[in-house]
This record gives sequence, structure tokens and C-alpha cells, in this order.
Amino acid sequence: IKFEFQPLPYSYDALEPFIDKMTVDIHYSKHHKAYYDNFINAIKGTEMESMDIKDIFKNISKYPMAVRNNSGGYFNHTFYWKNMKAHGGGQPTGKLSDAITKTFSSFDEFKKQFSDEGKTRFGSGWAWLCLDDKGNLFICSTPNQDNPLMNIAEKKGIPLLTIDVWEHAYYLKYQNKRPDYIDAFWNVVNWEEVTRRYETALK
Ligand code: MN
Repeated sequence: IKFEFQPLPYSYDALEPFIDKMTVDIHYSKHHKAYYDNFINAIKGTEMESMDIKDIFKNISKYPMAVRNNSGGYFNHTFYWKNMKAHGGGQPTGKLSDAITKTFSSFDEFKKQFSDEGKTRFGSGWAWLCLDDKGNLFICSTPNQDNPLMNIAEKKGIPLLTIDVWEHAYYLKYQNKRPDYIDAFWNVVNWEEVTRRYETALK
């Protein structure tokens, strides 16, 4: 099978105390796994089985809603797990650091704008840092399991960093306090991975 349910890149408790063990366990082994299983079922026997996921996203408007929701749920979660790590946080360096400062005036201002995007996303969804087709950074958010690679996205781009702001991502530890979860997220960001994505996206 072309699409794999990739292993979590760390243990369930690796992101403690910022994101708790039970949340990571249920989020990965139940929520993410269900999106994966439903994605595989939704594409069974179709042309999508042999397509690149990015080509599925580019054409997502012509496929059933079950494909849109579950391909996004499958991809977005894999992307989210990889942009976190134990003892993460801090700041990016090099080209990405320069681009963030140039675009948002400072790293703190970038953090504020990204956080606000997640805090104000109504209902369930994701906040993103992306690269547009002119090579500029921008922040956006998407509803449900949509992402900026999909042709239906309000603003399309190459994703570099994401945060899941569905309640299942934080409710066990933070209950209704989504802003506290978003503030804690900065302590586990894997900037090496985000930098790698940026440099790949520039090519
Ligand atoms: Mn989720």
C-alpha cells in the first residue's frame, strides 16, 4: 500500500508537560489512525490509490467529501507530529530566521500572529505557516481537515509549520483553554524540521 501510517516520531510522553501523554496517545492511536483507515477505505479501487497525495490535494474539489476530510486528516497529523519534538522550542536560525524577521518584523511578532490565527479559528481546524508561490512566508488557518495544499484553500501555499486546534488536541489537559495549549506548543516546536521544510520549499 502506497500510503503508510507512519510511527509517531517519539514516545507518547515525549512532549510532557506541554502536551500530555494521554492526549498524544489517543490523538495518534485513535484519531489519526481513524483518519488513515478512512482515507484508505475512501480511495480503495480509485485512481487515487496510486497518486501522490499532493496531486490528490491539487484536485481535491473533484473528489468525495470523505476523501477531502480523511486525506487531510491523514496528512495534517503526520505533518503536525513531525514539527514537534521533546525539548523543542527556541527559535529557528539561518535563512528561515531571516525570512521570519523580514516578513513579520520580529520572531515574537510572528509567534503572536500565528498564535492569534489558531486562537481565533472558529470551531475545528489548523493554523499554518506557509510559503507562497512568490517565495514569501504567510500565516493562515483552515477549517476541519483542510490544508493549504488543497485547491479549495482560501490561500494556497507550501506548509512549513502547523498546529492542530481541534479540541481533541488539547481538551484533556487544557479543557476550554485553547490559548494555553497554543502558548505551550512553542516549547515543543521542532525548528530543525521546519527549517528543513523551508529550505526544501525554496528549491
Ligand atoms: Mn487532531
